[in-house]
Amino acid sequence: MKNNHKKNLSIVVPVFNEADSIIEFNDSLVKSISSLPYNFKIIYVNDGSTDNSLEIISKLASENISVLCLSRNFGKEIALTAGISHAKGDAIICLDADGQHPPKYIADMVAKWEQGSDIVIGVRSNNEFRSFISSLKSKIFYGLFNYLSNDKLVQGSTDFRLIDRAVADEFITLNEPDRMTRLLIDWLGFDRDYVYFEAEERKHGQATYSNRKLINLAFSAMISSSPKPLYLFANLGIIISSLSLLLGFTVLIEQVLIGDPLKWNFTGTAMLGILIIFLVGIVLMSQGIISMYISNINNQTKGRPIYVINRKKSIGFTSEEIY
Ligand code: UDP
Ligand code: MG
Repeated sequence: MKNNHKKNLSIVVPVFNEADSIIEFNDSLVKSISSLPYNFKIIYVNDGSTDNSLEIISKLASENISVLCLSRNFGKEIALTAGISHAKGDAIICLDADGQHPPKYIADMVAKWEQGSDIVIGVRSNNEFRSFISSLKSKIFYGLFNYLSNDKLVQGSTDFRLIDRAVADEFITLNEPDRMTRLLIDWLGFDRDYVYFEAEERKHGQATYSNRKLINLAFSAMISSSPKPLYLFANLGIIISSLSLLLGFTVLIEQVLIGDPLKWNFTGTAMLGILIIFLVGIVLMSQGIISMYISNINNQTKGRPIYVINRKKSIGFTSEEIY
């Protein structure tokens, strides 16, 4: 029952094909938060699941559990955005439905929020179960990302996080379609704190973030947050042009002006060939990068809504509340 003296927590959970784990997950989530002295509302965002996840979460719907149903699969980042936009709580907590973000840590997050932090970030602290390859992959991902981008990611920081109402209100105003929720929240600033948690293995099914998706995500986040790649290739172009200029001068002096005392026997055609191949490579690479920026701008100027909700299948929202 709703108690007006208590603060409200909203819990946003993106769901994509989690039929095998959602009930178990929901039980542990409800168990963890109902012991806390807060009113809570769980919002399951069905992100175009193709199994019977929607059916299962619709059955769970109650006073404390609502269902926001997107019209198709938009991806986790956008599902989270839709959920946060529809959350009304004094604090909003986002977590994955696959059991990798243990609900028992919500209590710690809320405690840190009560101590004054606007954002409490879950940081994965043990990676025991992860293979050498996947931890190497994540090191490379964070390393590359932090090098290339203006935004910095703390290694191991996850989407498992709590944000204050004030942060959510600002977050909602950010409407870029190429988005990474964590980065946008990090960009917003505010006072932050961290909760270290031990990640668990995915309970059922496969992680749907394939390598390809992760790489795409890194690239689009990087491009939407910084023009550094453009500079990188521009710099490479400058270095290669300067080196070839230097080489050109050396050959000019050694071979043409002082008559090849070192017996290099450069032919002009060979030099020219190498030079042209180098330069063509550079031009192609920088064009590739430029086209990524253009596609980003293109995406932005379309001004499409970043998600579409299926009103008929959503539960627990009045029609004015759905946007
Ligand atoms: N998810 C989603 N839309 C997608 C892919 C995933 O809403 O297109 C949800 C998924 O149900 C889970 C969370 O996002 O609750 C994390 O997904 P996953 O475990 O596949 O990714 P990872 O653990 O690699 O971040
Ligand atoms: Mg997962």
